[in-house]
Amino acid sequence: MSDLFYSDISTLNKGLESKAFSAVELMQSVIDRTDSVEAKINAFVDRDVEDALKQARASDERRARGESLGAFDGIPVGIKDILAVKDQSLRCASKMLEGYRSPYDATCITKLKEAGAVIWGRLNMDEFAMGSSTENSAYGITANPWNLDCIPGGSSGGSAAAVSAGEAIVTLGTDTGGSIRQPAALCGVVGMKPTYGLVSRYGLVAFASSLDQVGPLSRNVKDSALLLETITGHDPLDSTSLNHPKINYSSALDEPRKKMTLGVPKEFFQEGIDQEIKEAVEKAIKWYESEGYAIEEISLPHSELCVPVYYIIATAEASSNLARFDGVRYSHRSKDAENILEVFSKSRGEGFGEEVKRRIILGTYVLSSGYYDAYYLRAQKVRSLIRQDFEQAFAKVDAIITPTSPTPAFKRGEKNNDPLAMYLNDIYTISVNLAGLPALSLPVGMTQNNLPIGMQVIGKAFGESDILRIAHDFEMNHEFKNLRPTI
Ligand code: GLN
Repeated sequence: MSDLFYSDISTLNKGLESKAFSAVELMQSVIDRTDSVEAKINAFVDRDVEDALKQARASDERRARGESLGAFDGIPVGIKDILAVKDQSLRCASKMLEGYRSPYDATCITKLKEAGAVIWGRLNMDEFAMGSSTENSAYGITANPWNLDCIPGGSSGGSAAAVSAGEAIVTLGTDTGGSIRQPAALCGVVGMKPTYGLVSRYGLVAFASSLDQVGPLSRNVKDSALLLETITGHDPLDSTSLNHPKINYSSALDEPRKKMTLGVPKEFFQEGIDQEIKEAVEKAIKWYESEGYAIEEISLPHSELCVPVYYIIATAEASSNLARFDGVRYSHRSKDAENILEVFSKSRGEGFGEEVKRRIILGTYVLSSGYYDAYYLRAQKVRSLIRQDFEQAFAKVDAIITPTSPTPAFKRGEKNNDPLAMYLNDIYTISVNLAGLPALSLPVGMTQNNLPIGMQVIGKAFGESDILRIAHDFEMNHEFKNLRPTI
């Protein structure tokens, strides 16, 4: 029973059904594991052990009455500190929200609770999800379980590190420009950003509303499929939630393999990419080819514009969304303010960290009169071209294969003083958010320094089943899903 914390959902479910162990024993195994590694990893910003055990007890009682709620009943799920869980802290890893407790559940949390999941802890992240290394947290940095001197990626670094280190069975993250996929790649786990509108954003603290999506992180593809099918569904509380028929992604994984064509965009394999990553992804592509997948080179000609376009649109939306943190209704209030203007300026000055301030200033600038047309409007037009690039590519292919990140996990502090270098880490993930498409990252190799390498599979809108199957196929024929960090 010692390695329950590293088991997958299907195995745990069988064990719970057959009474080989209880949900409380499972939760205790995850708690013990967390206690033993958390001093090194710092994946959590908050965790309530008693509350988790209470939820696990309730799960055991349901099962004893023959009222199990299904695959998630009793499974510990870690939550990024940006999603509202009733009566739990919600700080987005910011001093701005110190002391804030959420009065309601996000829709994805409601769905998880209805499925019997044990909501386990608050996971560290870059402040307000702005960053690629989890170094922008007001509550300490998170270490990469594969090399404690390295960053876990970001902004969902806590969500990725916790899954990788066995501190949760699966976790929820959010992805605005790569924040699920990039940390998943850097920590050697699976992470998926669904199609925009598939998962409700109600109860997710908004960073850039036209880009944000909630999604799963897990140690294998099937667990991500199971988590995804639990949190999807139309939500009248989110005006961007789409009314798409509910799909059983996990059972789609077992259907016979379809003949599929995979597109390889030439722009994603040029300068700036780490050689070992390039080789690992090319090797994976060769494997697909040898298994009968058709491979086709494609072009996404506006790829080089993705980073600048993203940093205009995302910061513009952030500057507007974060205006609500003004020290009046809630959030940190400065003790030194002598009038209402100082309440705003001093509270925001004290509460927000460097990177968040940088983004608010940039976003305010690109929206200001005189610059709006030159920057914001122009970026929106280029966003349409980026979307069209994908539409043209998907006329020929079923999915697109790219690296997830141009480099493996880098050393703590390495890019912290160079925002541009940090922004470039998202070069392969950002276009997917701009186009609203689904994409996942899965482990496809290890570097010579024993750091994980991730590959990205991008799908058509609502192509989740296809990309999960493509990833599952690779996973079932390779050993990467069984590799664990030694901590
Ligand atoms: N790293 C990107 C940024 O800093 C993406 C963040 C995200 O997806 N939340 O904006």
